Amino acid sequence: MTPVLIVLNAGSSSLKFQVYDMLDGAEPQLVWKGLYEGLGDTAHFIVKDADGTILEEKTWVGGNQTGHEEALMHLVSWLSQFREERKPVAIGHRVVHGGETFSAPVLVDESVVQRLELLVPLAPLHQPHNLEPIRIVRRRLPGMPQVACFDTAFHQTQSDIATLFALPREMRESGVRRYGFHGLSYDYISSVLKDYEPRLAEGRVIVAHLGNGASLCALKDGVSVATTMGFSALDGLPMGTRCGAIDAGVVFYMLREMKLSPDEAEGVLYKRSGLLGVSGLSNDMRVLRGHAATNADAKRAIDMFVYRITREIGSLVAALGGIDGLVFTAGIGENDVATRAEVMAGLAWTGLTLDDAINRTGGPCISSGDGPMAWVIPTNEELVIARQTRSVLGGMQAKLAS
Ligand code: ADP
Repeated sequence: MTPVLIVLNAGSSSLKFQVYDMLDGAEPQLVWKGLYEGLGDTAHFIVKDADGTILEEKTWVGGNQTGHEEALMHLVSWLSQFREERKPVAIGHRVVHGGETFSAPVLVDESVVQRLELLVPLAPLHQPHNLEPIRIVRRRLPGMPQVACFDTAFHQTQSDIATLFALPREMRESGVRRYGFHGLSYDYISSVLKDYEPRLAEGRVIVAHLGNGASLCALKDGVSVATTMGFSALDGLPMGTRCGAIDAGVVFYMLREMKLSPDEAEGVLYKRSGLLGVSGLSNDMRVLRGHAATNADAKRAIDMFVYRITREIGSLVAALGGIDGLVFTAGIGENDVATRAEVMAGLAWTGLTLDDAINRTGGPCISSGDGPMAWVIPTNEELVIARQTRSVLGGMQAKLAS
C-alpha cells in the first residue's frame, strides 16, 4: 500500500482537494486533484488525474443538498473505490490565519482547534470555512492525523518594525499588527527559485502573487522581509473584489455618514470593490481585458490595478534596498501577458527590461539585459501543504519511535 496525503482547501461553498503519494524521501507526487463547488446548493464534483484528464464528474441537484460534511464523506468513499493500493494516512489543511501562536504547521488536536477558533475574529470570512473540515474529520474519521498549514506563517521572519502599525502599544500587544498572507504561495516560490536562477535564491526578490486575491512579498535570501497584506487579507493591492489599502477614514465615513452597518461596510470592501467595483463589470481579468478596448471603465480598473502594483513594488524595492528579481505568479501573474508588460514598463527605473517576445510565450525568464531579472513561475500552494504535512508527520513518527 502506498501511503497518500489528502490536501484540503475549504471555502464558503467549495472544497478543493489534492491527493499525493508519499514515497520515502521523495517529493510528494500528485495523483488526483478535484473540487466540490456550489456546496449547500446545487453541488458539483469534478476529479482529474495529475495530467488533467477528467476521471469523474457529478452534480447533485434539487432537494438533495450537499454541504461540506457530505462532500468530505463522498471524497473518502470515492478514494476507497479508486484507491489502487493507496491508503490515506493524513490530511493537510490550508488555514488562513495562524496568528502569533502558530509560526509553523502544526498537528491538530483539541487544544489546537480551540486556539484556531480564537483566531476567527482576525479572519472572519475565511477562518471558519478552513476550520469546518478539520472538525468534520475529527468527528467522522477519528484517529486520522490532521495538519494545519498557515498562510501567515511564512511572514513570521519579518522584523518587529515591518509588522508594526503606528497604533497605541496596547493594541500591538493584543495582536493588532501586520501578519501578511499568501504565505504558502511565497513558500513555494522561495523553494524553487534556486531551480530557476541560483543567484535569485540569495538575492532581493519581489514576488507578485496576482490572482483573485493579490499581494506582493519582498524576499531577502528566500525569507519574507515585507509584504503588502497586513492585519487582514484586505490590505495592500486592489484585488478581484477587495479594495486593498484604503484610508481608514473611509470606513468611518461609510459608518457615520452613509449609515452602513459594519457588516455592510465589510461587504462593500471585500465583495464589491477592487476590479469589480471600479469596472462595474467583472472581477475577472480575462473579461476586463476582453472589454478594455471598448469599455472605458474596464480599462480604468486595469490601469488602477497596474498602477497600484507598480507603486507597491516601488515601496518593497525600498524595503529591500534594491531589486535583483521580480517573479509573477497566480492566475493573472502566470497568464496575463499585458499585465506583466504594463507592470514592467512602470518599473523601467529599476533597470528591469522586458523581453517582449518571451513574455508573450510565457517565459519563464521574461527580462533581458544585465539588470534585475523577471520570471514567470507557476505557484503550487497545495504541494507546500503536502510537504509541510509530511514533515510534521515525520516529526511525530520520530517522537513516537524515540
Ligand atoms: P484565486 O485567488 O481565486 O486562486 P487565481 O490565481 O485562479 O485566483 O486567479 C484568478 C484570476 O486570474 C482571474 O482574474 C482570472 O481572470 C485571471 N486569469 C486566469 N487565466 C487568465 C488568462 N489566461 N489571462 C488573463 N487572466 C487570467
